[in-house]
Amino acid sequence: MSRPITLRRVGDLVAAGLIDPAEAPVIERVGARYAVAVTPAVAGLIDPADPHDPIARQYVPSAAELITAPEELSDPIGDISHSPVRGVVHRYPDRALLTPLLVCPVYCRFCFRRARVGDAAATLSDAETEAALAYVAGRPELREVIVTGGDPLMLTPQRIESLLRRLAAISHLELVRFHSRVPVADPERVTPALVAALRPPGGADLAVWVAVHVNHPRELSALAKTALARLSDAGIPLLSQTVLLRGVNDRAETLEALMRALVRNRVRPYYLHHLDLAPGTGHFRTSIAEGQALMRALRGRLSGIAQPTYVLDIPGGAGKVPVGPGYWDEADSHVTDPDGERHAY
Ligand SMILES: *Cc1c(COP(=O)(O)O)cnc(C)c1O
Ligand code: SF4
Repeated sequence: MSRPITLRRVGDLVAAGLIDPAEAPVIERVGARYAVAVTPAVAGLIDPADPHDPIARQYVPSAAELITAPEELSDPIGDISHSPVRGVVHRYPDRALLTPLLVCPVYCRFCFRRARVGDAAATLSDAETEAALAYVAGRPELREVIVTGGDPLMLTPQRIESLLRRLAAISHLELVRFHSRVPVADPERVTPALVAALRPPGGADLAVWVAVHVNHPRELSALAKTALARLSDAGIPLLSQTVLLRGVNDRAETLEALMRALVRNRVRPYYLHHLDLAPGTGHFRTSIAEGQALMRALRGRLSGIAQPTYVLDIPGGAGKVPVGPGYWDEADSHVTDPDGERHAY
């Protein structure tokens, strides 16, 4: 028997029962505009009989993506205007993004870089990698490099190891953070060789952290949990990033279950992202007021270590800011408790 393969063509998705054959022509138009990939691990989590399946909704293309609202932007958070050299985005003084490739194991239908991801030819060449590393080396104010993409854990262990060795040689760096969907979307890639490659080179005074993108408790399958445990057991601190998505995780019960499962698997919830204004993603967008109501509900239900920070990346590239609910009212010296009652202080 052959090993199951990643579904990339509309015909593959129809054959897997994930798309109605009558819809195939319109989905072809979506696929021509935005990259498509559904790994076997993800396909196996989908219930094809459920028209509102929260896993399918994140990964299986839909006709709604053809609708681009006037406020949606191909570069919603200003990556391009903050890129001093190919493969680097530098917005904050102390940290910068390094994007060695734009390939991912899956293509999320709400991706903020959807106008660019999926292009294997956009992988940095050796010369471009050298130029990006030279930029980082030439900026002593940088303390942290965030390796993202695309998905950097799609690189081979050898490439990751060599990248980390180069970063470890830059003496002003203290921290390298990898952002990845691999532990959830393609957990079998988290092999002992990959985990070994992620450990800082011997003697290097450098911490390596991994932030995992996960949006629904069902994404934490048995294989995903094994992948997370391998990373944790290797001493790599794990964070999570979740995108708030209508029809996927916009209920307090769902977010609560996700955050509990993350902590249970030694992942510290980091950010709950308000959905960026990427093109063709309006069907996923909630209001900020809805996000705040969800955060208020989590505050009463969950341990402090399971609370993510709700953030908005300001369109155009002004940076990320917390947009969670406020509890303190300076005007009349009152504080609101987790049940919504106000108290004089
Ligand atoms: C999101 C982002 C970071 C990381 O921000 P943190 O708040 O430290 O997680 C850094 N640089 C850019 C350009 C970003 O978009
Ligand atoms: S894994 Fe990240 S970069 Fe890749 S498609 Fe999903 S959101 Fe975009």
